[in-house]
Amino acid sequence: MTLLWDSMALVEATGGRPIGNLPDGVTGISIDTRTMKPGEAFFAVKGERFDGHNFTTAAMAAGAGLVVVSEAKLPALGRLAIPKVVVPDVRQALEGLATAARNRTRARVIAVTGSAGKTTTKDMLRHMLASVGSVHAADRSFNNHWGVPLTLARMPADCDYAVFEIGMNHAGEIEPLSKLVRPHVAMITMIAAAHLGAFKSLDDIAHAKAEIFAGVVRDGNVLLNRDDQRWKLLSKIAADAGIENVWSFGENARSQFRLVKWEPQETGSTVTFKIAGQELVGRIGAPGRHMVQNALAAVGAGYLAGADPARLLLALGEFSAGAGRGLRHVLRHGDATFTLIDESYNANPASMRAAMQLLAATPVSGEGRRIAVLGDMLELGQHSAKLHAALADLVAASSIDILLLGGSEMKVLADNPPAGPQVEYREDAEGLKPLLLRMVGPGDAVMIKSSKGIGFSTLVEALLERF
Ligand code: ATP
Ligand code: MG
Repeated sequence: MTLLWDSMALVEATGGRPIGNLPDGVTGISIDTRTMKPGEAFFAVKGERFDGHNFTTAAMAAGAGLVVVSEAKLPALGRLAIPKVVVPDVRQALEGLATAARNRTRARVIAVTGSAGKTTTKDMLRHMLASVGSVHAADRSFNNHWGVPLTLARMPADCDYAVFEIGMNHAGEIEPLSKLVRPHVAMITMIAAAHLGAFKSLDDIAHAKAEIFAGVVRDGNVLLNRDDQRWKLLSKIAADAGIENVWSFGENARSQFRLVKWEPQETGSTVTFKIAGQELVGRIGAPGRHMVQNALAAVGAGYLAGADPARLLLALGEFSAGAGRGLRHVLRHGDATFTLIDESYNANPASMRAAMQLLAATPVSGEGRRIAVLGDMLELGQHSAKLHAALADLVAASSIDILLLGGSEMKVLADNPPAGPQVEYREDAEGLKPLLLRMVGPGDAVMIKSSKGIGFSTLVEALLERF
């Protein structure tokens, strides 16, 4: 079993004090005993709801090689028969290990932020870069003050590329994370209303996303979306921060990574990109205009990290959208089939638009109808009602036949429904479930979209179970 960290290196990086017989090293880093594997180090971090110190026995039972615990908890845990590294603060210890991981790597490091498309772009980069080298990236949307240090601490010493997603709910969150990651390439996918609760304006959101520039290494690169309304603002912030290598992607002829042409297909798109002067034709294995945009940005970022863009684009033909982020299922319905698009992980005005365009472009067959199942977009603060009501225009423009709405924020749309589709409203996913199961028919295209907190993934599961 390869060791990720020597115990002594871990002790040094965390500033800890070893107690007991430490193993030579650990095979991984975990903060969750449910997913921990034997031989890993368990960091007893304290989250909003749980304190990892209450799970040290579980960690031991799961075969942890050692546990990293806080000095203050030692009296309670002292008798636990497992090697320990005792630290003043477990979160700082994890950050210390993250810093050590960053210091020891020779990988080219890419960081992705933005209001939508972070995980998708990160996953595309991981998928593409794996065709030209070894890549480290989180499996999931690990983008906060736990997820980023954890992903860094898990980075093997010898990978060629590393990709990090950095997210935020408030100003001030991205800067320290970017300084941990120290990217060679920092990218902002787009600026839009998301997590708007803590912000007054889109300009304020742009400033908060621009914090990612703070960690860029000397002579590093920044990659911006030229088609985004805040491109100019972000370019200026980057220039003011002294970053010389500011690149852009988009349809604009002056962007270095340019979308020349795209042709939508049912299960993907054919695209022509111009990447730093070189024209490339390829296929993206996930449909939708937003996937084209993410792909262009990802190929650009991969190029800036030193990879051959032609090989990167070639790999994208095999890319498919993730569960909850546009993953497509073709399900049997009697002798026929229907299409289910799973967008149940995330919803904000920008991603709603992307997803509705996707549904509008999804073919139906026979008597098939387009069914949009939409749930609340959360964290929109005082703008929430207005932004939910504004979906009426989007629905009206999207060739929707049936609109199923759920969640308290969606009520305003149900009360002022768009002309055209049949509209039904229920309070929550549970209420919608029987309705949806009854309504879906052969040839339909069904899209389920909401913020994760609304639990619409249970609707996806219900359809997958029944059909
Ligand atoms: P989170 O803030 O939840 O981590 P994220 O930025 O990682 O979100 P993804 O998970 O990649 O975003 O995508 C979420 C949804 O956003 C997708 O399901 C899709 O509907 C939409 N989306 C993806 N890429 C784009 C894009 N470039 N522009 C607009 N919408 C997008
Ligand atoms: Mg994400």
